[in-house]
Amino acid sequence: MSNNFVDYVKICCRSGKGGAGSTHFHRDRTTAKGGPDGGAGSGSLKHGSNGKNAIIEVPLGTIARNVETGNKELEITENGQEMVLLAGGRGGLGNDHFKSPTNRAPRYAQPGEPSKESWKILELKLLADVGLVGFPNAGKSTLLSIISAAKPEIANYPFTTLEPNLGIVAYHDNQSFVMADIPGIIEGAHTGKGLGIRFLRHIERNSVLLFMVPSDSNDIKKEYQILVNELKQYNPELLDKNRMLAISKSDLLDEELREEVSKELPDVTCVFISSATNTGLDQLKDELWKNLN
Ligand code: GDP
Ligand code: MG
Repeated sequence: MSNNFVDYVKICCRSGKGGAGSTHFHRDRTTAKGGPDGGAGSGSLKHGSNGKNAIIEVPLGTIARNVETGNKELEITENGQEMVLLAGGRGGLGNDHFKSPTNRAPRYAQPGEPSKESWKILELKLLADVGLVGFPNAGKSTLLSIISAAKPEIANYPFTTLEPNLGIVAYHDNQSFVMADIPGIIEGAHTGKGLGIRFLRHIERNSVLLFMVPSDSNDIKKEYQILVNELKQYNPELLDKNRMLAISKSDLLDEELREEVSKELPDVTCVFISSATNTGLDQLKDELWKNLN
């Protein structure tokens, strides 16, 4: 029943190169001509210091893929888990390593390994059952904040400037579903960024898209159609999903207006709701639940 919203970023990683091994001979007050003692970096068999790690913090569930092969390289599943995405080059061996019975004073050392460069995809899949689709100001965030029992806020994660929010909606005691406020879908598409659509790439079939149009819209039917078309442009498969329409801010309508509005609704399950007055929210949950199951 669950589906996935995907956030995604492509990054170029470059590791540090390994330090070159050194060609060095031991010298001190009592040793005029000591044996080779080059390590990686300097004499006295010293090992050079390790480079500084570049650490990228990611949300749980983040997967790293190789851009060329698409293969998954690692996945972060636990809090605090650290994995190496791209290792630095090893340091070269110093001349001490190459001494032998036949060459007790080698004048060469190994160079360090070169740095590596590689493009990676970081991808995050978030579980959600219901995706909210609407223009800015439709009341999506407000609805989510009102009907979510818990709000594990996945806001503000570093991938994009968009902030999808997930809320768990409790339904009849011990059931629940996940609703996602995904501001990017339309807003991003609209400004030509097309960012938001990424969240929808992996939605499975039996999820629901909850469209939201405010009741004070000039033409609810038309606004709904515009939203549908925006989605369609990006991925026609999205239209295979179950759709519902919530007419939000219905507290702005009096009886008369509401009747008028009702005559001109699109051909989809419509529910009048108001997050402000807590109206229609139970009915909305009932309809969503029916749709999800
Ligand atoms: P979003 O951009 O779709 O997430 O919309 P928001 O949830 O941020 O709401 C936009 C504006 O509409 C805010 O000023 C809300 O206070 C207001 N709003 C949201 N829900 C209702 C409602 O049920 N009734 C009324 N009258 N205003 C609402
Ligand atoms: Mg919002």
